[in-house]
Amino acid sequence: MSYIDKNSLSEEALIFELGSEEREGVLYPRADKSKLKTSISIDPSLLRDRINGMPEVSEVEVVRHYTHLSQWNYGVDSGMYPLGSCTMKYNPKVNEMITNFEGFSLAHPHQPEELSQGILRIMYELEQFLSEITGLDRVTLQPAAGAHGELTGMLMIKAYHKNKNSGRFKVLVPDTAHGTNPASVSMCGMKPIKVESNKQGVMDIDTIKKLIDDKVAAIMFTNPNTLGLFESNIVEISELMHKEGGLVYCDGANLNALLGITKLGDLGVDVVHMNLHKTFSTPHGGGGPGAGPVAVRDNLSDFLPIPVVEKIGESYKLNYEIPKSIGKVRSFYGNFLVMVKAYAYILSMGAEGLRKTSEAAVVNANYIRSKLKNYYYLPYDEICMHECVFTDKNQHKFGVTTLDIAKRLIDYGFHPPTIYFPLVVSGALMVEPTETEPKETIDKFIESMIKIYKEAESNPEVLKEAPHFSKVSRVDEVKAARNPILKWEKKDD
Ligand SMILES: *Cc1c(COP(=O)(O)O)cnc(C)c1O
Repeated sequence: MSYIDKNSLSEEALIFELGSEEREGVLYPRADKSKLKTSISIDPSLLRDRINGMPEVSEVEVVRHYTHLSQWNYGVDSGMYPLGSCTMKYNPKVNEMITNFEGFSLAHPHQPEELSQGILRIMYELEQFLSEITGLDRVTLQPAAGAHGELTGMLMIKAYHKNKNSGRFKVLVPDTAHGTNPASVSMCGMKPIKVESNKQGVMDIDTIKKLIDDKVAAIMFTNPNTLGLFESNIVEISELMHKEGGLVYCDGANLNALLGITKLGDLGVDVVHMNLHKTFSTPHGGGGPGAGPVAVRDNLSDFLPIPVVEKIGESYKLNYEIPKSIGKVRSFYGNFLVMVKAYAYILSMGAEGLRKTSEAAVVNANYIRSKLKNYYYLPYDEICMHECVFTDKNQHKFGVTTLDIAKRLIDYGFHPPTIYFPLVVSGALMVEPTETEPKETIDKFIESMIKIYKEAESNPEVLKEAPHFSKVSRVDEVKAARNPILKWEKKDD
């Protein structure tokens, strides 16, 4: 029942501890330096034969070392990864292969425009696709992550108000917004104002009315929000904001729930960022690269980062002449290969396919929600979007916590869901199955969660000590961040 047999794998040393002195990975014939004809003379003090402290290993040692480590790892290719808010879904490998086409992978950012027409066309058309999907007018592809997109969008909102001399600097942020939202507001020098959500877990019009004044620049919310719920009052709230002179920012990182069903622009939203590295065929959680394009309504297009791609006649051009632009937010043009994957994904899925993606993501989450709600407490018992949030409330009487449940899931072969997030729910367990999991796998997940529920009652000890079958059991949750060891030093023994 575990995905790892502890006894079949020995401990793995650090690569620095493998091999032995003078061992080499690849043997090249040594060049006869006396015969080298070169006009470049290098100061001998800068030449070295060896770099001290580097691993001295053979090729097979390197291959086995990293293969072992990869086998101890858990990824979407090894099993279900129901990490809420993260959309850890299976991405078609073919899109990854397409990015390896030489025209893409070997393109140089200084390559002239005449030789980059195909690349510019992809960027231009991807912008159009994302405009269509969000229901907005223009898109910048430059930001390299979701939070980077938020910062870019907020900088545009700030520039918009500065241009109007409005003196507005406050941004309303609901308590169910993603944590990066208030952080992005602060980063660009505006002031986040926390807004409490109502009993149904969504934004409340009356609460917002009370907070609006002539210093409010915008509202910034996440939809679906971090409870996995659709913000049902967006239209009214957008109208209200616009009437009072503010703008509306929607964090669309979790667009997986809305594709082809809801256009945020149609609901009155002015700015949306998306995570290509969640919804559009780039894996999330791999440490990058990613892309967080930002879509805006026409009234903000004067502030877009430069350059923007334009089509003149049959050719594509980079336009740097946007007088009120917020400038550049990333070197060159953003992470182009991530754009290629999104472009290929959108073209291959088509409008119908994208809609089915979201329908399946939402159905899968609701299936889990309804199958498990008799076992795990559901703080907001509403139809959810692409993810659902349980808590450990029913398990408290057995001394079992969210952490124990999550760790025990590892023994059943599943990556744990997101835990203790969103912060508005105590002991949260946030499950996002995504559209790519087969029903059999989801059923197995549900079955495992029910087994864990029963274990909590009959044998809580087994949960307290879980995981039992992973390579390492409970680790210090913060030590790696607080006390990182970034340099290996040889121990004298
Ligand atoms: C993932 C996520 C983000 C942040 O995206 P990064 O690419 O990790 O910066 C922001 N908002 C929401 C709702 C998200 O799910």
